[in-house]
Amino acid sequence: MNILGIDIGGTKTSVCVGNTDGDVRGHSRFDMLDVPSVDDYMPRVVQAAQLALDQAGLSMGAIERIGISAPGPLSVARGIIMQPANNPGWVDVPIVALAEAAFDRPVVMNNDANAGALAEKYFGRHRDAAVLVFLTNSTGMGGGIINNGELVQGVTDMAGELGHYCLDAEGPDCPCGLHGCFELYVGGRAVAERLKARIRDERIETAMIDHAGGDIDKITLQTVTAAARAGDTFALSEWEAYTEHMAHGIGNIIQMLNPAVILLGTVAVNEGEFLLGPVREKLARYTWKWPREACVVEASSLGARIGDLATLAVARHTA
Ligand SMILES: [Zn+2]
Repeated sequence: MNILGIDIGGTKTSVCVGNTDGDVRGHSRFDMLDVPSVDDYMPRVVQAAQLALDQAGLSMGAIERIGISAPGPLSVARGIIMQPANNPGWVDVPIVALAEAAFDRPVVMNNDANAGALAEKYFGRHRDAAVLVFLTNSTGMGGGIINNGELVQGVTDMAGELGHYCLDAEGPDCPCGLHGCFELYVGGRAVAERLKARIRDERIETAMIDHAGGDIDKITLQTVTAAARAGDTFALSEWEAYTEHMAHGIGNIIQMLNPAVILLGTVAVNEGEFLLGPVREKLARYTWKWPREACVVEASSLGARIGDLATLAVARHTA
C-alpha cells in the first residue's frame, strides 16, 4: 500500500511517499517559519507532497492512505491537534479534516512519540519485543508504549505522556501546568533555557559559551555535550545531572512496565554511549535488578529515518 506521510514538527514539516514495508521513495520538507499561519499550512503541505510524489515517480492516484505524526496533545478520535508547545498559534487544529479535504484520501494520525513507537514495532531492530517503550529524547520528551504488540493509547489518547511524569512536585514550573516534569530535566529546550539563564545570572565561566560561538543565546543541549566531552567542569556537572535525571525517569518506567526494551531518539542517537553508559550505571538507584536486567536500553535503531517511518507506521497501524 502506498502512503503519503506528513511529519509535523515545531521547526519543520517533512512529507514523504512510501509504503507499508517502510520503503521511502520520495521526500520533501519545509521550514515552519515559512508558514505564517495555520491557514497557510495545508497548501504548503500539498506543494511538498507534489515534490515527494514526483521524486517517487507516482501520482496522487496511487496513494491509498495518509499517515500523520503530529505534536501532542492531540485527540486521535477527533482528529484534532490541541495546542502544541512548539507550534505557536495552533489551537484545536482539525488537521485530519484539513488533510482529507486537501487530498481526498483517508487520513490517520497519532502523536509523534506513539508514531515513533509504532515505527520501532514495525521497522526497528527490536520489532519482536513484547513490551517496548520509545522515548523521543529530543527538544522535548515524549513516550510511546507497545504492550504485547499493541500500542497503549489510553482512554483520551494520552497514555505514554512520559515527559510529564512528575519527578519532583517541588521542582520548577512546567509549561504544562505541573511541576518538576521529567521533560524539564531532559528535554533539549528546557535544559538549554535553564542553563542560558544560569550562565548569564551567575556569570559562570564555561567552555559551553565558546562552543556556542561566544553567544550564550545559542547554547543548546549539543553545546553541553560538546563541552562535557572536551572536559569542561561546569558542562560535566550538568551532564552528570542530566544522566541522573534520565536514569530516574527511565528507572520509573522500567519499574512500572517491566519492558523488554526502551529505545531513545535524537539525543541518544547523537551521543550514544556518552549518554547511555552513565544512565545504565545509575539505573540501579531507581529500579529493581530483575526488571532492570531484563530491559535493554538503547538508541533508536532507525536513527534519523524515524520521522518518515513513523508516518508510514501510523498509516500501517490503522490499515
Ligand atoms: Zn509538564
